[in-house]
Amino acid sequence: MPEHPLFYDLAYLKGIGPQRAAWLESELGLKTYYDLLTYFPYRYLDRSEVHSLGILVEGPTFVQTRGKILRIEKVGTGKAARLVATLTDGQHYLELIWFQSVQWAESSIRKGEEYLVFGKVSQYKGQVQMAHPELTLWEEWSKKSGPSLSPMYSLTDKLRQRNLNNRWWIGVVRQALDQVSGNVSEILPAYVVDAESLMNRWEALEQAHFPDDPAQLAKALHRFKFEELFFLQFGVLRLKSNRKFQNPGPVFEKVGDMFLRFFHERLPFELTDAQKRVIKEIRADLGTGRQMNRLLQGDVGSGKTMVALMSMLLAADNGYQACLMAPTELLSRQHYDTIQAMLGDLPIRCGLLTGQVKGKARKELLQELYDGSLHLLVGTHALIQEHVHFAKLGLAVIDEQHRFGVEQRAKLWAKAGLAPHILVMTATPIPRTLAMTRYGDLEVSIMNQLPAGRKPVQTLVTAESKRLKMFRFLEQQIQAGRQVYVVYPAIKETEQADLKFLYDGYEAMLRAFPPPHFRLAVVHGQMKSADRDIEMRRFVKGVANLLVATTVIEVGVNVPNASVMVIENAERFGLAQLHQLRGRVGRGSEQSYCILMHKDKPSEEAIQRLKALASTNDGFEIAEMDLKMRGPGDLAGTQQSGSMELRFSDLVEDSHLMHKARLHAEQILVTDPHGTGELSGKLVNAYARFYGQGKNWSKIS
Ligand code: ADP
Ligand code: MG
Repeated sequence: MPEHPLFYDLAYLKGIGPQRAAWLESELGLKTYYDLLTYFPYRYLDRSEVHSLGILVEGPTFVQTRGKILRIEKVGTGKAARLVATLTDGQHYLELIWFQSVQWAESSIRKGEEYLVFGKVSQYKGQVQMAHPELTLWEEWSKKSGPSLSPMYSLTDKLRQRNLNNRWWIGVVRQALDQVSGNVSEILPAYVVDAESLMNRWEALEQAHFPDDPAQLAKALHRFKFEELFFLQFGVLRLKSNRKFQNPGPVFEKVGDMFLRFFHERLPFELTDAQKRVIKEIRADLGTGRQMNRLLQGDVGSGKTMVALMSMLLAADNGYQACLMAPTELLSRQHYDTIQAMLGDLPIRCGLLTGQVKGKARKELLQELYDGSLHLLVGTHALIQEHVHFAKLGLAVIDEQHRFGVEQRAKLWAKAGLAPHILVMTATPIPRTLAMTRYGDLEVSIMNQLPAGRKPVQTLVTAESKRLKMFRFLEQQIQAGRQVYVVYPAIKETEQADLKFLYDGYEAMLRAFPPPHFRLAVVHGQMKSADRDIEMRRFVKGVANLLVATTVIEVGVNVPNASVMVIENAERFGLAQLHQLRGRVGRGSEQSYCILMHKDKPSEEAIQRLKALASTNDGFEIAEMDLKMRGPGDLAGTQQSGSMELRFSDLVEDSHLMHKARLHAEQILVTDPHGTGELSGKLVNAYARFYGQGKNWSKIS
């Protein structure tokens, strides 16, 4: 396929050449005409506004003014040489200074002429100045009726030092536009352009750089946002639909003995409506003969483990094995214990595989897994090691998936001839727009209901100086038989400073809650995992009544008797993380509390965040707030690969547009699910050309 003119190398553009092209690539990553043309201005200067010389003050923005050159003077020699010109309106004066390109400036400015001058005003020894201004003869400028909004590009110092300044940039953009005109065709379906009243692609490209007026500019930028979101959605939805047709999965057609006996004999409580609904959704997927790829989002404490277990029983009923993978040793063991207790005397064999299962026990376990006598396997990423062979893996459940890398999930895949069904469970609610992007190719189930009888956790925001009051409260709770978590921030647990927090805290706690009356346990990420396990289990079993910890306990730990979560330096945590931590309490029938301790003089913003958290227990609402306050890059669990960068749009601001774009994309795929139609063909090409590079969608499994 001959290269499309939009993708010609920038080196071929007049005014650029190989050297400058190399700079553009190394400084800004721009390689092709298209890269240059979609490197939109970061702002636009209103060129109809000319300030009078008398009102100029120092400031960070670019302004225009006008005046006559009164004097031109060369100062200094060699490297220190500079050119100073004085501009005047007859009453006021402005100094124009060039430190670079002195010769060029000297030769191009004429004394006595009137100029329009453009630049940033600074102040030096009481005198207003402009360094490296752009000058246009006033006579010429006033004749022109060109666009009144002039583009300002975000350039690096290195580029500017090499004279690739804004003015130069405007020139090459014009060149590039000239050369590609006629080659920029519409890539969105015509009826979508109509329905959404979008500006056409070529016009939008021109207007984005040289807008006629602010309204046109807004339309141009809107069009590119829409285009990007549309193709983003088209990409993920197509992947989803392809997978649906191409990946056969094991068929779990019947609900058998294990599931039914469990349901009637063993289920210790009534399922919530949300649990029932999700199990139904999963059952429907498992019967289709296609591979299931489902994301289960359920707020902390919503009872995801039960959903996982019942899905795994369906696998067993249909002659398949199932596994449940958790991010830590502790969680694996906890799941294993829970599942064993729930299964009771049902004839289901469940094993636990972690790094700590060694020697003979490990060998036997692997043998049973291989010969099929083991039905369920719970474990850490030990499950995906090469020498672990399943006889017939039909379903893989991945708990708290954000701790697992994408490649790790792929390895699980390789463990079965037929792609196993995949159920990814996460307690970190993902904002809707982010879910549509990052997990847009997965089916999504949502559990937004807690089991009946839970009392919502009460959240208190309090300053460090109220510590003694907090201690008394903890004492009361412990005396009433409850248990308490005290969590310290250790964002990077490798850092000694962070660990010191924890140890100082631990010692303070020991003094306030002395043994033998009180019993403390301590865990952090740098302990040997065996030691951590011992400490953790003391707390889980109720031997210890106070657990001092870093965020290693964040995910999944289930101690229903714990009723207080104290978080020290809460201002150092993200909202989603705080919500996770809070979810460790409120799991029993007692009223539970979360105490957010902050330093004595927190910033206004920090207080607001903490108060926002205290005002709601709804994880989805919190996820939306977190996204708004911190931006998508920071959100817990979203740093992993498979993420994409958006060039024109913004996940937070343009979520409304994303919904619209998704509806259009969905419709196209519903009409033409196999992608054989003409429209699909065109879109696939356009996608590959403009949005496919560097994004491997198949990596998101
Ligand atoms: P999470 O969704 O955070 O993983 P878990 O699966 O750990 O939640 O469940 C939290 C607690 O709620 C567990 O003690 C579990 O036994 C209990 N639970 C789950 N489902 C129900 C239910 N339908 N009714 C009452 N308690 C339930
Ligand atoms: Mg869980």
